Amino acid sequence: MKPILPGSKIGVLGSGQLGRMFAISARRMGYRVHTYSPDRDSPTGQIADVEVDAAYEDLDRVREFASAVDVVTFEFENVPAATAETAAQVARVRPAGDVLHTTQHRLREKTFLRQHGFPVTRFEAIRSEKDLAKVRPGILKTAGFGYDGKGQYRVNSPGEALAAWESMGRQEAVLETVVDFEAELSIVGVRSDAGECVFYAPSANAHVGGILDVSSAPVPFPVSVAREATEIARGVMEALNVVGVLCVEFFLTRDHQLLVNELAPRPHNSGHLTIDACVTSQFEQQLRAVCGLPLGSTEMLRPAAMANLLGDVWGKGEPDWAAALALPELKLHLYGKTEARPGRKMGHLTATAATAAQAEQLVRAARARL
Ligand code: ADP
Ligand code: MG
Repeated sequence: MKPILPGSKIGVLGSGQLGRMFAISARRMGYRVHTYSPDRDSPTGQIADVEVDAAYEDLDRVREFASAVDVVTFEFENVPAATAETAAQVARVRPAGDVLHTTQHRLREKTFLRQHGFPVTRFEAIRSEKDLAKVRPGILKTAGFGYDGKGQYRVNSPGEALAAWESMGRQEAVLETVVDFEAELSIVGVRSDAGECVFYAPSANAHVGGILDVSSAPVPFPVSVAREATEIARGVMEALNVVGVLCVEFFLTRDHQLLVNELAPRPHNSGHLTIDACVTSQFEQQLRAVCGLPLGSTEMLRPAAMANLLGDVWGKGEPDWAAALALPELKLHLYGKTEARPGRKMGHLTATAATAAQAEQLVRAARARL
């Protein structure tokens, strides 16, 4: 493929913080950015050259948007299939729409993983009341549109499972076994148009209430774990023919088995620390991959940790940014969202230090000062 060079226009479907950080990378390298979503003054739109505010279902507007750019990518994986297909009729879309189709639906994603022999949490499809009769304790998750722990219910009996399924409007769901994990980790991989793959060091991830709270890297696990995680990520990117960034979230069981939890075909929250800690950030890699450019080095310059800032932090008014920034290793990232709702990702803090554990202490201490 002939590379799409600086000065060209990149279209981003979606307009959240992932698009914002992508747009910052793209603008830094001299590209123009257009963003498309049903929102105005969005995190991405504040950085982009052009912000189109229209429904994903408005296929005429989608066609017009895609015709105006040199390549289309996305930051929001729940873009409807018809939207990605329409864009693909008039522009190059990276990664291709079928990557979205597989990964935006938990059942399709888990079935794909199982069929390709990747280790995955035990699960069953729930499509009717009959499927619930034999229910064992587990986590019921909606098949579509889940993120940040939304649409998930812990259930211990068929009765609880039925109540949870009713509350999700009897939509298609997955029942997963609860994994008694030692740790959660993730790995961000990048695959170029030519099929070259690079990987970041895995991050250790701590969640609170189903939402990522703190990530740190490099992780103090045996090298064999990092190696296996990398090989699984490579296999998934090849099987899906991804051109772009893909993150694999894992559970590490107490006997050191890796199980894939889920895939994200885009930069991931656990990779935000690559902005401040690595030679090339995950967002610049997305740009390079979708533009057909050589990939950058994933080398980590310094151990790092990232702590998310949810809307809850605004509970007592505007956080005390100066107090956190008084720690000189600290980097503040805010996404330009005006309404601080509980559980909403508003920004994050990153710290680098001599070790990942020290970096983690720093981001936690800084957040506590807010
Ligand atoms: P989301 O799309 O919301 O990120 P996940 O499936 O990754 O959904 O679930 C969010 C978090 O909930 C996980 O990172 C993990 O901490 C917890 N969780 C989800 N599924 C399981 C499971 N089967 N066993 C144990 N914990 C789980
Ligand atoms: Mg997840």
